[in-house]
Amino acid sequence: MTISPDTSRVAPADWDHPAAWGPTKTFFYLTLAALFAGAALVAAALVVFAPERHERLLGPGLIALVALVGAWLVHIGRIVSARWFLASGIWIAFTLIATFTGGVRAPVALGYPVFIVMCGWQIGARAAMIAVGATVLAVVGLAAAEAKQLLPAAPLYLPAMHASVLVVVSLLGAAMIVLLVKAYRGKLTQLHRSREDLRRHSGEVEASRATLQRAQSVARVGSWTIDLITRRVEVSQETRRILGLPDGIESDFPTYLARVYEGDRAALQAAWAAALSGAGFDHEHRIVDGTHVRWLRQKAEFETGPDGTPIRALGIAQDITERKQADERIAELAFHDQLSGLPNRTLLLDRLKQVMAASERDGSYSALLFLDLDNFKTLNDTLGHDMGDQLLQQVANRLMGCVRAGDTVARLGGDEFVVMLAGLGVVEATAVMAAEIVGEKILSALSQPYQIGHHDYRSTPSIGITLFGGGRAEPIEEPLKRADLAMYQSKAGGRNTLRFFDPKMQSAVTDRVTLEAGLRAALMREEFVLHFQPLVTGTGKVTGAEVLVRWQHPERGLVSPVEFISLAEETGLIVPLGQWVMEQACTQLNLWAAQPALSELTIAVNVSARQFRKPDFVEQVLSAVVRSGASARQLKLELTESLLVTNVEDIIAKMTALKAHGIGFALNDFGTGYSSLSYLSRLPLDQLKIDRSFVMGIETNPHAVSICAATISLAHSLGLKVVAEGVETAAQHDLLHLGHGCDYLQGYLFSRPLPIAQFEAFARAH
Ligand code: C2E
Ligand code: CA
Repeated sequence: MTISPDTSRVAPADWDHPAAWGPTKTFFYLTLAALFAGAALVAAALVVFAPERHERLLGPGLIALVALVGAWLVHIGRIVSARWFLASGIWIAFTLIATFTGGVRAPVALGYPVFIVMCGWQIGARAAMIAVGATVLAVVGLAAAEAKQLLPAAPLYLPAMHASVLVVVSLLGAAMIVLLVKAYRGKLTQLHRSREDLRRHSGEVEASRATLQRAQSVARVGSWTIDLITRRVEVSQETRRILGLPDGIESDFPTYLARVYEGDRAALQAAWAAALSGAGFDHEHRIVDGTHVRWLRQKAEFETGPDGTPIRALGIAQDITERKQADERIAELAFHDQLSGLPNRTLLLDRLKQVMAASERDGSYSALLFLDLDNFKTLNDTLGHDMGDQLLQQVANRLMGCVRAGDTVARLGGDEFVVMLAGLGVVEATAVMAAEIVGEKILSALSQPYQIGHHDYRSTPSIGITLFGGGRAEPIEEPLKRADLAMYQSKAGGRNTLRFFDPKMQSAVTDRVTLEAGLRAALMREEFVLHFQPLVTGTGKVTGAEVLVRWQHPERGLVSPVEFISLAEETGLIVPLGQWVMEQACTQLNLWAAQPALSELTIAVNVSARQFRKPDFVEQVLSAVVRSGASARQLKLELTESLLVTNVEDIIAKMTALKAHGIGFALNDFGTGYSSLSYLSRLPLDQLKIDRSFVMGIETNPHAVSICAATISLAHSLGLKVVAEGVETAAQHDLLHLGHGCDYLQGYLFSRPLPIAQFEAFARAH
């Protein structure tokens, strides 16, 4: 009987483990039921076959009792006690009592191996050995006691026979348990090992889960899976942290999407849809976490089903806010000048490329202004680089103040700056003018004194301007080169100026500049003169004049207002010029008042929009009237339709104020501009002037006739008089006056605009 020390050590330890008791309980109940049934059968047999020997019922009775107590112990969960109780109780019942009281011989012979097996199975091989040993000892002891006649007399052969049966069956039982244990030992060991393995593995799994979690938290990369069939989402601890998702809150795509920055949602949805149809998924977007906006990178791979459709997404989530910030900082460093914070050459070239591409598409013009500070080197050398840096920063700020939001101001290095004005329209001349206006603005802004440290410093720039675009493709460096060249010309031209690269443009600009300067001087020197063009009734009687300004240029002679009125409007010179005309006209009215032939004449003065919009326009006119002593009733102001584009309420208020003093109003160039009938009825007008262009066409163009006719009847229905301008032929006169009832006429047919003396003579004669 060799029982491996291994088994004897391992098996009981295992079997004592509470977890092992599930099946054993059933085994117990079955064993006990069998014992109970056996005892009951034996007892029944005894009652039937040996009714006279009552004492023999003690054996089955005892076994039944042991089975009952065992069942109770199992029932209350005292398994270990039940085991020992059963083993020892059955042993006592079978060995000591049954042997000598009889009645259980057959069951003993059959049951003993069961008992040994149970001992071995339930308690361990060693317990079975002890039971066998104890049996042998008990039998030998009993036999010895019998032999010494210590026991009550009984036929010896019976106990001896029983004893030998017991010894044989216990040896048989022991052999069986050894065989059983051997047979199961391998399996048990295996079982034990796999349980150990399982325990170790689950420990390892737990450890690697923790390691993974820690690794995710260190790397700030979380993981997630989405079951695309059930829509179930699983997220790792780190993913929860990254997404700011509280524990216990499930994440699904719609909930997540709601937290994605609004501007990034469509792109994310598109990327996800593309990913589901086979493209990879690697997307960066922002999520809004409270008041914070964070950048996330989500990347995923897909598991596909047998038909190739994705069924599961395995992804990672990474908080890349810091990286994005670093990227921005790098871009800032790479594309901006450190000193001024302005875009550097690289960024300028990049934007230039974009603007050039756009202008190739839409044909619009853009401009490059190349600026260089005059005498910057001297400042650097005399006051030091710190001061130089301060000046450059202030220049940068002033430049930013001169451009619109979409324009680019860049610093190329040193004291060189470039301003790019994009989208100046498709008309070259307009673009030139816009660029020039900005150039002038920059010149004036940069020429203001600078406060550098304790120094008041003056600096001026030289500016070179070039246009580019206009649907023309060229290499990206070209406009820069041209602007640079123009800048050198401007330096050569005496600094503190701007120059256009294109000679034609340059001369246009120069002419304008000369003209503007000339106009200013002319105002001072009173080089303007007024001509009077008669206004006549249908019968040719002069009722008044329109005053038209001319410039008596010392070299060029008489310059037409067509050449300078628009520039005077642009530059604002029209305001003093207009006021001068107004005063002259009023003075003239006053002079006429004393001459009976002329005292009833009216004078019409053209008023430009810019002049009229001046807040003190009403006061200026009234003061001219008062100062001159003219009769306000004879003064008429001719307004242009373009005035009516904005702020009609203000216009009406001013007109009403002047009208209260008797001043009249005519609407110039009627039909050419913006007149709306609703305004027309609201404005306190006296006259409409039909534009020359309609009068001109009246003989040849039936539409012109209809327009004139309609204008006249409209004016009349509003209670206004009508003046036809530019009447050159008798036919025009007849059609307008006789045909359609035009009230007054003006034009070369009657007289050209005349100097005052000639006009007065004309008026006297007519
Ligand atoms: P406007 O107000 O339409 O003035 C009428 C223009 O038509 C005048 O040109 C006049 O000489 C011209 N004209 C008159 N009759 C005929 C004709 O039968 N045939 C042709 N072809 N032309 C005729 P002018 O004097 O060159 O003035 C041009 C414009 O300059 C004026 O147009 C007016 O808008 C502006 N202007 C003139 N003087 C002043 C002024 O003192 N102030 C303002 N704001 N604008 C003025
Ligand atoms: Ca006019």
